[in-house]
Parts: sequence; structure tokens; C-alpha cells
Amino acid sequence: MRCPFCGTQDTKVVDSRLVSEGAQVRRRRTCIHCQERFTTFEVAELQMPKLIKSDGSREAFDEDKLRNGIIKAIEKRPVSIEAVETAITRIKEKMQATGERELPSRWTGEAVMEELQRLDQVAYVRFASVYRSFKDISEFREAIDRLESHSVTIPESKKTAPESKKEDQV
Ligand SMILES: [Zn+2]
Repeated sequence: MRCPFCGTQDTKVVDSRLVSEGAQVRRRRTCIHCQERFTTFEVAELQMPKLIKSDGSREAFDEDKLRNGIIKAIEKRPVSIEAVETAITRIKEKMQATGERELPSRWTGEAVMEELQRLDQVAYVRFASVYRSFKDISEFREAIDRLESHSVTIPESKKTAPESKKEDQV
């Protein structure tokens, strides 16, 4: 690993630990030559399945698009970026685990909802309302009922009254 400060190849790992629930290895390195410290992340490179859109066309999996959808849903909610990254990693691993070369694009939407359900109830309802294009209050109620039947996975401290504010897009 080349030192980003002086370019020498003489660097050594001073600390190494698993992050994102073991999906990444974070290494602290120090340069033998200039003593600067830097961090590297190691992740498995995954070949992601292509997504089949509702019109039948195919598109490449877009991690940024997925991340933006989640970030929009958790806006002003007490969810850390680390938790978002962990959720994204988990979704990618699940996509991989299907062993499919192509998946319907709604597959990722469902996977995001599953993650948000664990992370934050408000974010979940927000995302679901946009993703499923809720037409009336009964659909919100249904989503909230679904949450309540799963509430064992949500820490007490994170429980808040769901708000009905609708985001225009995910
Ligand atoms: Zn150096």
C-alpha cells in the first residue's frame, strides 16, 4: 500500500478492525518513511445482479441511488450514517445471496423497507408512502399496523409518533 503523502510503499498496519457488522475491515496505517497516518477500508467486491424495471428494461444496480433514497427517508431522524451503510451492505449481501443475475427492481424497494422497519419507524412509513404510492390514510394505517406487529426489533427509545408528512420523492 503506497503512502498517499510521500508515495513510498513502506507502510505498516497499526490497527485493524471489523466495521459495518464485519462487512468491512478498517486499517490504520502509518508510513515508515514520513510517519503520516492514514486509513484504508477493505471490502469484498461483489458482482451485483441487474435490476429489471417494470417496463421490462434492465438497469445496473446503483448504490448511490439506493443510499439517496434511504437518506431522504431518514432526514431529521436519529439514524447514524454508520447504520445506513450497514443497511446498504446488508441489502447488497442479500441481493448477492439470491444467486440471480437479474432481479425485479421492486426487490430492492422491499429490502429497503425491511431495513427501515428496523432502523426507524418514521423513516419506514415515509419511504413506504412514496414507494408504494399510498393513496389514502388507510394505507398509512396498514403500514403502521405492520410496524406494530414487528415492534420487538425496535428499541423503546426510538419509538415516536409516526408523522404523516409526505415526501414528494424518494
Ligand atoms: Zn509517507
